[in-house]
Amino acid sequence: MSKQGVLVEALDAEVQFLWTASGNSIVGKSSDLWYAYTGQQGAEAQDWGWVAMLHPDDRERARHLWLLAAEHKQFYETWYRISNARGVYHTFLLRCMPVLHDDGTLKEWICQLSPATAERLLLEPDSLQTNLLYHLFVEQASIGMAYISIDGRFFHANDQFCSLVGYSREELIGRRFADITHPDDITLSDSFVNVHLAGTPTPSVLEKRYIRKDGAIVWAKVTAMLLRLPSAEPLCFFSLIEDITERKRVEEEQEWLLRFERAAGDAERREKYEVSALVEQLKAVFEAMTDGVVFCDVEGKILLMNAAGYQLMGLGSEVDMIGEEVYPQIAFLYKVYNEYGEPLSIEQIPLSRILHGEVVSSEQSVDVIMRLPSGREVRLATSGAPVYDRRGHQIGGVCVYRDVTEARQKERRVQQALDALLTIVEEISHLPIQADEPTEVVPVPPLYTIGHKLTEIVRQVLQCHYVACISIEPQTSSQPDKLYFVGVSGLSTKEEQIYRKEIEQSFLSDYYEPEVIGRFRTNEVVIRDLVTYPFVQPRTDFGIRYRLIAPMLLDGQLLGLLAIGAIGADVNYTQEDIALVKAIAKVVLQVIERVRLLNEWTVARANELALREANRRFDAFLSIASHELRTPLTTIKGNVQLALRRMETLKSQCNQLMARPDSYEQIMRGLERVHSPLMQASHRTRVQERMISDLLDASRIRANKLELLMRSCDLVQIVRQMVDDLHHFASDRPVQMHLPENRSVPLMADADRIGQVVNNYLVNALRYSSPDSSVEIALELIEGGKMAWVSVRDEGVGIAPEDLKHIWERFYRSHATAKQYNAGAGLGLGLYISRTIIERHGGCVGVESIPGKGSTFWFTLPLAEA
Ligand code: ADP
Repeated sequence: MSKQGVLVEALDAEVQFLWTASGNSIVGKSSDLWYAYTGQQGAEAQDWGWVAMLHPDDRERARHLWLLAAEHKQFYETWYRISNARGVYHTFLLRCMPVLHDDGTLKEWICQLSPATAERLLLEPDSLQTNLLYHLFVEQASIGMAYISIDGRFFHANDQFCSLVGYSREELIGRRFADITHPDDITLSDSFVNVHLAGTPTPSVLEKRYIRKDGAIVWAKVTAMLLRLPSAEPLCFFSLIEDITERKRVEEEQEWLLRFERAAGDAERREKYEVSALVEQLKAVFEAMTDGVVFCDVEGKILLMNAAGYQLMGLGSEVDMIGEEVYPQIAFLYKVYNEYGEPLSIEQIPLSRILHGEVVSSEQSVDVIMRLPSGREVRLATSGAPVYDRRGHQIGGVCVYRDVTEARQKERRVQQALDALLTIVEEISHLPIQADEPTEVVPVPPLYTIGHKLTEIVRQVLQCHYVACISIEPQTSSQPDKLYFVGVSGLSTKEEQIYRKEIEQSFLSDYYEPEVIGRFRTNEVVIRDLVTYPFVQPRTDFGIRYRLIAPMLLDGQLLGLLAIGAIGADVNYTQEDIALVKAIAKVVLQVIERVRLLNEWTVARANELALREANRRFDAFLSIASHELRTPLTTIKGNVQLALRRMETLKSQCNQLMARPDSYEQIMRGLERVHSPLMQASHRTRVQERMISDLLDASRIRANKLELLMRSCDLVQIVRQMVDDLHHFASDRPVQMHLPENRSVPLMADADRIGQVVNNYLVNALRYSSPDSSVEIALELIEGGKMAWVSVRDEGVGIAPEDLKHIWERFYRSHATAKQYNAGAGLGLGLYISRTIIERHGGCVGVESIPGKGSTFWFTLPLAEA
């Protein structure tokens, strides 16, 4: 190590020197160090020679202080700039302690020489400066003060500064000032330091931000200076720090106002004030709004734009639009279209309409589509109004805009859902339309089927737990609103049954209070929390908590309800949902009404067809009746006249015939010629008689005046009698009989009427079968002998299935036989009368028939009780 290095190291460790009592010489071993540092040799340092190594400005002071101290024999302290061997001065702190002889005279001085650091100079407890400065710190405690070393660390700070930055003194000491400086101000602070180090002699002022320990930002005015040692070496920085946070805030506001005033520079001073006051009041409100707000003067200069306004316009926080002309900005940055995608000129955009005095209310807000500079397209619903001063002059306009991109998409979705629903509903309601020539009634799907389908669709569209559709029979004076089940979906079959039963037994008031029913009648959708508001009467809720109920009104009359059920607790129906349900309810009602009308139409149509059929049968009957009643009369008349003429001829020829030997044969032949037409007339009369009696019977039945003469009789005899009569009077075709042997079948009955039925069956069997086919009649006992069973079987034309169900009706004749007008064709009354007679006797009738193969007509009758 060089001598100098040794000295510096030694000096760092604070080296003690011995000086002579007068101070003129350095003595003892320590003088070697002095020589090594200063380069003086031996005697050069003696006899005030050491003073030559001091800075010329310090020499006089040094000598003077020595003499003074020697005189007073007191401790003293000072500093000198001492030159090293190369002529470079360093500042040293010199502390000297007098050493006295026993008699009190000065013997020598022990001096401590140490390099002058800022800490030593300023903060050593007994240093002069420290005391002074410390005093100053305490005295001036209203302002922050700090010492910062050249390498940027705090080595002292007063309480005021500590509280300004929120650190304790212990925490602060040793910390770099950059650590508590706002990042944005570090460069500034650094350059400030550098300027001073480069030589600026005077204190300078800087406004900067500190970051407090709690993270808050404080603005400070820092007045700082670089303290230098007398050798001009930088010692440390000394700063006065003043809290200007509040002043900064005020300044910022003033700045804003200034800018505002600049922007509104054209308006009159008073108006400016009004506007600024207004804007001030509104500013806080606007800032909190999520809608974009822009406030322009009449020229289109932007006076205010809130944060949402910037954001919706796609402008970053670094952009400042205040004072900018809005029209060129829009023209330059954006493309604006109307909702149909047609480009809008600047004059057409809502803001310029507002600035031209037009009010665009929020209800009639205009949708515009804006392509932002980023290329993104947003749909903005804009509204706004012009702003006037007290004298009624327009001073600007406010335009409020909201991003409805999503909302409109949602609306579109709802619309699509509705469209889909309408389409499906329309499909369902493709119900039968009246045919041009309706011969048959097309079956209408029952209301339940449609109700179920409808509710199922609604459930899918709304994605809810269950949907129920109820129809209401409007209130009458005697009965409240009665409920009918139309359809439900989302419930199990069992639940559905329970629900249906409950509904069908309920009135509207069992479910809802009069107040709620009143709301339904005003077409209001009601949302009901069944936990807090259960049904009026105990009714099953199927675990559903929220019920949304949409009324179904037609011409102001409440005709039904559509109930939507959701289980969850977080059910949140939007206005769109409610509108959708309302619309659905309307459609559903239309469909239900349509089905109901169609059902009614179907019934009416069926009645009409039945009536038409009856008329048709009656027309057929009339033509047959007139034919069948007139024809026999003509025949009878002709036959009787023929018989009469033949009688006359026979009479006039009688004398001559008597004279002939074969007179008997001749007269008998003549009588035969008279007999035959009379027989024919007689047969015809019987037919006629039967027709007339059938007509009379039918009208008696209709008038409920068919009287029965009930007597004991034997069914075997009746059957036998009828077969005999048939042979005798009407037909010579054999009829096979199968009757119980050796016993009677006793009845309590009108024997003539029962005979009439047997006769009717037999006559039909003969009439509707070929002459060579057989006809059989059988009488059996059934049901343990309690009932008689009579059947007439033929091998005739048979009856088509579609005729079978009608042949017992009045005037009905099968289509195969309807066209027959020949003698013997009936009026379609026989079977009608037969059935009535048998049923009046407590029996029943029936027929089995295979077309082309034959028929078996039968009836049963209860036997007379023993
Ligand atoms: P009608 O006097 O016309 O015979 P009915 O009431 O006795 O009237 O019979 C009604 C219709 O039933 C007849 O017109 C005929 O078409 C059909 N009918 C009745 N009996 C027979 C049968 N045994 N075979 C086929 N058709 C029959």
